[in-house]
Amino acid sequence: MKLVKIDKKQWAEGLESLKKSFRLLGPVKEDSYYSFKALKEGEQPDFSFLNTRLSPKSLLFPQSEAIVEYSLDERDEDHHVMKAIETDDSPRAVLGIRPCDAKAVTLVNLNFDTSEYKDPYWVKALAATTFIGLACDTPKSTCFCTSVGCGPYHEEGLDLLLADEGETYLVKILTEKGGNFLSTAGLEAVDEDTTLFDAKKKAAEAKIISTIATDNLKGQDILDLHEAPFWEDISFACLNCGTCTYTCPTCWCFDLQDEIHGKSGKRFKNWDSCMFPLFTLHTTGHNPRGTKLQRVRQRFMHKLKYFVDKYDQGIMCVGCGRCVNQCPVNIDIRKVCALMNDHKVDEQACAVQE
Ligand code: SF4
Ligand code: SF4
Repeated sequence: MKLVKIDKKQWAEGLESLKKSFRLLGPVKEDSYYSFKALKEGEQPDFSFLNTRLSPKSLLFPQSEAIVEYSLDERDEDHHVMKAIETDDSPRAVLGIRPCDAKAVTLVNLNFDTSEYKDPYWVKALAATTFIGLACDTPKSTCFCTSVGCGPYHEEGLDLLLADEGETYLVKILTEKGGNFLSTAGLEAVDEDTTLFDAKKKAAEAKIISTIATDNLKGQDILDLHEAPFWEDISFACLNCGTCTYTCPTCWCFDLQDEIHGKSGKRFKNWDSCMFPLFTLHTTGHNPRGTKLQRVRQRFMHKLKYFVDKYDQGIMCVGCGRCVNQCPVNIDIRKVCALMNDHKVDEQACAVQE
C-alpha cells in the first residue's frame, strides 16, 4: 500500500490517454441526478456528486443482460443449442465509485462467485474492472456506512482510493491492478506522507451522524423475528414498488426470461425484486409470499438476519442510504433494523397463548 499525490490537471490528461487501453466509466450529471456512464472522447467524470441515484452495480450486473441465444429453426444444424452471447470483457475502469458501493460489490460477489457456482458473466466483468474509489468528504445525512463495517474512506473492493485535496488528489494504491492503472496513464506520482490522508479520513468519519446497532441480530432467534408483531406496521404503507431493491447496491436477485422473434431466441437475465408478487408465484398459482407483509418481511429478514447467519460478515447493507432517500412512503431500514435488533419476545403474551 502506497500513498501518492497527483496533480488534477495531470490526472485529467492521464485519463484521456487511458481511453486507448481502458473503457472508462464514471459519474455524469443527467437532469438532477448523477449516473455512471461510459465516458466519451474528451469527457471527464464529474466528481461533484454526493452519490449516484442508482448504484454502479449495473456495470457488472446489468438490469437486463442477454446471456444465451438459440435457433428454433430445425433446418439449422445447431437448432435448440444454447450458445453463450459474447460479452465485451476488455479492460475497463470505474472512476469515482464511492467506498460503500465498492464494498457492496464484494458482498454481491458472495452470491455470484462461490465454490460451487460461478456466474461467468459476473466473474468475467469483475476481473476486467479496475475500481477507482472516491472518498466521501461530505457524506449525506442519511449515510450510515460507519455502523456497518464500511466508511467514507473504506478500502475494501477498491484498487485505488482518491481523496480530493484542492488542486491535487491524494491517491492510495491498494492493489497491483491500481498500480498498473496509474502507470498505463503515465501519471507522475509524488510519494506522500499519510498524515493528511489520515486526518481527512478521521474528519469524514466524524461527519457520519446516522448510526444503527446490529450487535444483537446474530443472537436473535429466526422464528421469533419472523413472528414479530412489528411487520404489520412496517409493511402497512409499502407500495411494493421495488424501488428499494433496484436502487440497492447489494440486492442480487434476478429472473431469467426468454424472448423469441420468429425462429430466434435469446435468454435474458433481468433484475427482479422480492417486493414483487410475481417473484415467488408458482406455476400452480400458489404464492408462498402472497401478501405484502410476507414480502416486506422477506426483504428485511434477508438483509438483516439470513445474510448475517449465513455469511457471518455483518448485514447485507453498506449504509448508502439510497433506499431511505428514495422509498416513496419513507420506510426506513435504520428503523426496521432497530426493531429487529432490540426485539424481545413478550413472554407474558406467549404464556397467555399457551
Ligand atoms: S421502496 Fe418503499 S414502498 Fe417501494 S417496495 Fe421498497 S419499502 Fe415498499
Ligand atoms: S442503505 Fe438501503 S439501498 Fe443502501 S445498501 Fe443498505 S439496504 Fe441497500
